[in-house]
Amino acid sequence: MSLKDKLKARIAADGPMGVDAFMTACLHDPEHGYYATRPALGEAGDFITAPLVSQMFGELIGLWAVETWRHLGRPAPFRLVEVGPGDGTLFSDMLRAAKLAPDFLAAADLWLVETSGPLAAIQHQRLGDTAAHWAGSLAEVPGGALVILVANEVLDCLPVTQFVRRKEGWAERVVGLDQAGELAFGLGPPRPAQDMAPEGTMIEMSAAQADFTSAVAGRVLKDGGAALLIDYGGEEGGGDTLQALRRHQKVDVLDTPGEADVTVHADFRALRMAVKAVGAKAGILTQGDFLRRLGIEQRAAALSRAAPERAEVIARQLGRLIGDDQMGQLFKVAGLYRGADGPPPGFEAQR
Ligand code: SAH
Repeated sequence: MSLKDKLKARIAADGPMGVDAFMTACLHDPEHGYYATRPALGEAGDFITAPLVSQMFGELIGLWAVETWRHLGRPAPFRLVEVGPGDGTLFSDMLRAAKLAPDFLAAADLWLVETSGPLAAIQHQRLGDTAAHWAGSLAEVPGGALVILVANEVLDCLPVTQFVRRKEGWAERVVGLDQAGELAFGLGPPRPAQDMAPEGTMIEMSAAQADFTSAVAGRVLKDGGAALLIDYGGEEGGGDTLQALRRHQKVDVLDTPGEADVTVHADFRALRMAVKAVGAKAGILTQGDFLRRLGIEQRAAALSRAAPERAEVIARQLGRLIGDDQMGQLFKVAGLYRGADGPPPGFEAQR
């Protein structure tokens, strides 16, 4: 039985499901979910991420982690954590760049937080005999030591609920069955509302993104440290941002559940509120600004000088990561920290 048939049977028995439950099934159903069975990153897969565009990305994040650790007083031991490490490219690029700081590597207790069995296996393989630990959730990573945490494109796979404004109030967008018994979007009963939102307005909310952000900010506040949460999205609220990608093409979200990656935009306004509620601080930059502040243009120039035959490729990769019409503006980098420590490298106020 395919996931589509399984979902149809579930809806026939229990009624329509929220977009959040639908997303969770598509990504994590133990038998058919995309991440549980067939995650495929890279050119030959379904989607590509910044660390796979160029090794410069992971190397600069690695140097950021070293600088952050120095800024926080070089504690030993401390925990270096990546959540959702994909195929392990970002983590291994970070560790390679950090080799220039052997004291950092000696002090680092390495943790990868991964829910996907197939991806954890690929990460094990890529890291070889590097001494690292795996956990299924951030809660399983022991506290009691300063934490430097990175999560790239993780918020975007945490589920959202969607609501549409009807005359009578807000109605939850749900996945149900149409006349022919096929999966179809519909609306639940409207809940009375007093606001002036125009009819037809669609909003998205993610309790899961807020909970994850709170957990990271709470850990930073309690144990000290800093975190980078990197994703596409913004602080404006983008209406319906649910999309499915298969072999780099957008496909109908309802068409092939479990066979495509399903994502949403990260809600950086909600992130800001969650961090503030915990009592931590967040700086938010575009990916382009953040990487420029870390010196990506100088890094690209140095790489091109060392290997002139690769200069064109390096220029293209640089453009992809920081170009305004590519990942540079759409992607944001949130830096989470404790007020008393001051902002981590890259997030200092600009003169
Ligand atoms: N950070 C990597 C991979 C991004 S893909 C990169 O930049 O290339 C999303 C990653 O998040 C995958 O490793 C996926 O298995 C993981 N993931 C998905 N849902 C998750 C959840 N609920 N908690 C933690 N990790 C999750």
